[in-house]
Amino acid sequence: MTVLVFLDPARPDGRIADAAQPQLMVTDTGITRGDGIFETMLAVNGAPRKLQAHLARLATSADALELKVPSSDVWERAITTALAAADDDGELVVKLVATRGEPEAGATAWVQVSAVPVGLRGQRLSVLLLDRGYDSTVAQRAPWLLMGAKTLSYAVNMAAVRYARSHGADDVIFTSSDGKVLEGPTSTVLIAQVIDGVKHLITPQLESGILPGTSQGALFAAAREAGWDLGYGPLVPEDLFESDGVWLISSVRLLAEVESIDGKPVTLSPELTAELSGLIASVS
Ligand code: PLP
Repeated sequence: MTVLVFLDPARPDGRIADAAQPQLMVTDTGITRGDGIFETMLAVNGAPRKLQAHLARLATSADALELKVPSSDVWERAITTALAAADDDGELVVKLVATRGEPEAGATAWVQVSAVPVGLRGQRLSVLLLDRGYDSTVAQRAPWLLMGAKTLSYAVNMAAVRYARSHGADDVIFTSSDGKVLEGPTSTVLIAQVIDGVKHLITPQLESGILPGTSQGALFAAAREAGWDLGYGPLVPEDLFESDGVWLISSVRLLAEVESIDGKPVTLSPELTAELSGLIASVS
């Protein structure tokens, strides 16, 4: 089941389209150049989770690409139309996409609602550390690299995952050329350290050219309420091995435990995983 709703100035609530039929021109620059942006969120019982955080990040990505996209209320109406058409009380993936569209025309934007992929969750991950080839200060120096924007140019991220799988691992943690821990190809890195009974939850520096994760942001807010101390890197690979738990977190897969990095075991903490999973489940 896939529901498609195009954002259309003539239809304030969006235009439902047939996902089984061709809908885009082959000349759309989202296809020919990967020139566009997207967001992926989870909907539970017909309600998108962290909607405002996703819409805010979409607007930031659009600014970075100087891409004119519909306003948040137009997206919200189209999402409502798509979720109503999907008519499913369970969990669904809601994807927002905006491309630069046809040359000379203007943005193409749509909402896609589909099922959560089977077998996505619950697996302990073996990950590889892979060099992303940029240093951790590149985002400030080279804004044209669009670090930290969620663009449609994910071919490199997907290639990294394929590389990991062909080398016997499940996923990837990117590192910078100056040796900092960055992020996963589709996730944010989290570590926990328990020191003198105080639980610290740490994520890499947001300014290191990574995508600011909406799940990490929401989890940090919930963890602070629950008494955790929060930290924002910088992290180096040794920090992962010396931690009391390493996770990859994202909106649809949620919290995934890392059990090994480059073939070496890292500490697993089922208690901390259960606590953090409970906190992220409580976020709306
Ligand atoms: N980092 C990257 C590169 C991502 O693609 C994603 C999500 O797909 C994330 C982090 C996690 O973001 P979120 O928690 O908002 O899903």
